[in-house]
Amino acid sequence: MNAQINQELHEPAISRDGQVIELLVNAGLSSDADRAESVADGVGLYRTEVPFLLQNRFPSESEQYQSYLKILASYHGKPVCMRTLDVGGDKQLPYFPIHEDNPFLGWRGIRMTLDHPEIFMVQCRAMYRAALVYSNLSIMLPMINSIQEVEQALVLMDRAWQEVLEENPDKTGVSRPKLGVMIEVPSALFILPELAKKVAFWSVGSNDLTQYLLAVDRNNKRVSDAYSVCHPAVIRALNYIFMQGQALHSSVSVCGEMAGDPMGAIALLILGYRHLSMSSFNLAKIRYLIRRVDLNELGALKERLLACGDRQQVQTILSDYLEQYD
Ligand code: PEP
Ligand code: MG
Repeated sequence: MNAQINQELHEPAISRDGQVIELLVNAGLSSDADRAESVADGVGLYRTEVPFLLQNRFPSESEQYQSYLKILASYHGKPVCMRTLDVGGDKQLPYFPIHEDNPFLGWRGIRMTLDHPEIFMVQCRAMYRAALVYSNLSIMLPMINSIQEVEQALVLMDRAWQEVLEENPDKTGVSRPKLGVMIEVPSALFILPELAKKVAFWSVGSNDLTQYLLAVDRNNKRVSDAYSVCHPAVIRALNYIFMQGQALHSSVSVCGEMAGDPMGAIALLILGYRHLSMSSFNLAKIRYLIRRVDLNELGALKERLLACGDRQQVQTILSDYLEQYD
């Protein structure tokens, strides 16, 4: 089976009924990106905090610029979505310790960077400078929970873009990278129309969305049984986001671990998602699966999936479907 999965690594991710699924990779190190370079359709989530974690100080603008340039160059012609710094929670920078009782509810992601515009500006400038060289960059903001956060980020990003253009007058015709937000804090679900007016795309962070919807720490083994993307609340939330995306003409992808898990991927395909981003080691098996499923047939399961009132029922529908590919 594994040999067969790997044999199809370079085949297109097209379902039996001829629909194309975009298969993207989640990366954080250039080695993650390198591994998937020839087989992924692009980078759906570049976790910029990972290279920050490996240093003993904040990387300079020029160091960041060089590393972003490298990623964009290696995926030249394919989209690369970089997320601005998402530290805090479980991701602690050794040289920027944050002590809190409730780190997952604390100074995380966009909250920290908006309080430190000097850190945010350096990163945005480095990204925008790289975007003057390669046109495949988009940028997204983590942990967004209000429109104000997007607006504040935009003020800084507008300034960074203007500065970079003024420093490079020969590049004034270059288009600015699109901006998106992570949908991973439950409050974001209730402001999707407003978000759609401000940003071009949404990327669902199912890891945090599940954690916050269910109030279950994503890394605590003691409660890991209670953490499940098959919970009807998660399934219905994912459906709502997708449907709102359709209604508001916002492009929606998923970059949480769920997309790289066969059961999770099937659930997302049933709900209508067509852009999935995952760890590089999951790309082969999800591609193999997609090449065997009929998306019309899967779509017919949507009503049943949404009607499930408990997690076992959701799991049964998904595992029954998957059984035929064992
Ligand atoms: C997520 O929350 O689903 C996500 C992709 O981001 P991270 O795992 O880096 O928090
Ligand atoms: Mg997250």
